[in-house]
Amino acid sequence: MSLHIPFRNAYASLPDTFFARVLPTAVKKPVLIRFNQALATELGISTDGVDEQTLAEVFSGNRVPDNAEPLAMAYSGHQFGHLNPQLGDGRAILLGDVADGRGRLWDIQLKGAGTTPFSRMGDGRCPLGPALREYIMCEAMHALGIPTTRALAVVSSGERVVREQLEPGAVFTRVASSHIRVGTFQYFALRRDADALRTLADHVLERHYPAIDRQRDDRYLQLFRAICQRQAELIARWMNTGFIHGVMNTDNMTISGETIDYGPCAFIDAYHPQTVYSAIDRNGRYAYQNQPAIGQWNLARLAETLLSLFPGTEKQAVEQATAVLQDYAQWQQQAWQQGMNHKLGLSQVQEGDQERAEQLLALLDQAGLDFTLFFRRLCAVTSNDSDRHEVFALFELPDVHRSARLEEDLHHWLDDWQAALAARESSPQAATQRMKSVNPAVIPRNHRVAEAIAAAETGDFSVFERLLSALANPYDDAAEFSAYQTPPLPQEQVLRTFCGT
Ligand code: AMP
Ligand code: MG
Repeated sequence: MSLHIPFRNAYASLPDTFFARVLPTAVKKPVLIRFNQALATELGISTDGVDEQTLAEVFSGNRVPDNAEPLAMAYSGHQFGHLNPQLGDGRAILLGDVADGRGRLWDIQLKGAGTTPFSRMGDGRCPLGPALREYIMCEAMHALGIPTTRALAVVSSGERVVREQLEPGAVFTRVASSHIRVGTFQYFALRRDADALRTLADHVLERHYPAIDRQRDDRYLQLFRAICQRQAELIARWMNTGFIHGVMNTDNMTISGETIDYGPCAFIDAYHPQTVYSAIDRNGRYAYQNQPAIGQWNLARLAETLLSLFPGTEKQAVEQATAVLQDYAQWQQQAWQQGMNHKLGLSQVQEGDQERAEQLLALLDQAGLDFTLFFRRLCAVTSNDSDRHEVFALFELPDVHRSARLEEDLHHWLDDWQAALAARESSPQAATQRMKSVNPAVIPRNHRVAEAIAAAETGDFSVFERLLSALANPYDDAAEFSAYQTPPLPQEQVLRTFCGT
């Protein structure tokens, strides 16, 4: 039986300059590794009576569904600060977009589906490891409640791809509210194609920001503001959960405000703000602590593309864009502080909260305490008579810098925080529950992701499956997944991640 996907093809109806029509290149022997049935149902894709082999063929690109209008999107981008005018989907093919029950559009894109006119020197393929990493990371982010692209399927290709060594190949199916990036705007701005820019901006307004009145003269300025707001909130969420994207190039920043392109990304274990995991990020441009500022840099590149659409003179347009970029920094800081307050069980942000949060992070940094586990254990010590033993046991973990002064500082900090909690929140038990709903027990720790990939490369997908199960309910303390809460032992640490494209 064939699979029917109710494609709408909104992007394919845009002008020809926006993309290149291209069919996937069939793979040798597609085998379904995982299909996200729950997501398929949300998207209105019925798989009743559809066998696994059909799914493998559709989500490898071997069988193109009816009504799909496959295409590779055109875009440019600043990569590590350097402008690359011609990027585009070099190994991703958009099958089309579908509308969910609420009428919202979702792109369905195959990653690793073969070469396109944008492939440059690349082979258009994706190794299994990066495909599984993206699957794990985006589903984990979704379960954490952080805006993200989603994983619909992963299929092994039965082919080998040549990287530093031969690796098994795969095709990953990604779902996004759209794949429009900062780099998509850059593509048309670089070509001085004003009509295309306006068409793209109108498409984005309709698709992602319908609340903005399209009759307003300053609608494109409002659009820019709204994009900046979403990015400020998104990056604040990354910072609050210890997520490091790793390649925040302008082609990897969406206009919708979803996290996209999980390459050499990772969650921080021991808290050090200068942490970098990506093997290709030699200067630490995309280090954990740089993310808010890099977000602003990328949005400044977006502003440059939109200036001609803003009202008033060029000078006024620049002033307006600059003001919004300054607001971004403030929104980011506010969203971050609100997130920290939630992590600490304090609902309203009050004077002194920022200083208290910063004191804590300085302490975590000096000691090298595990970011996620620290906040999770903090949930249990909301009252001044609670037993602090579990929190202080974190100092006994390997590689932690332990000193009498640091322990004393932490005691003082806890006294101060507990007093603030008691003054503002009536019940320590209720604070514990609230805190547990925002401080995850389980995150996709880098060594666990690496372990799942290594097993899969030998044909054992059980480690990958189990990790996904552990990550599905990150705010629960399920006993069966308790091992996923602990940080890596020194010999388990994975300090470098490779995007492996
Ligand atoms: P990424 O690092 O995945 O964000 O990709 C950056 C750019 O390189 C995009 O234009 C990709 O389409 C392109 N690219 C990455 N890997 C490949 C590949 N194996 N073949 C062709 N193009 C690729
Ligand atoms: Mg990319």
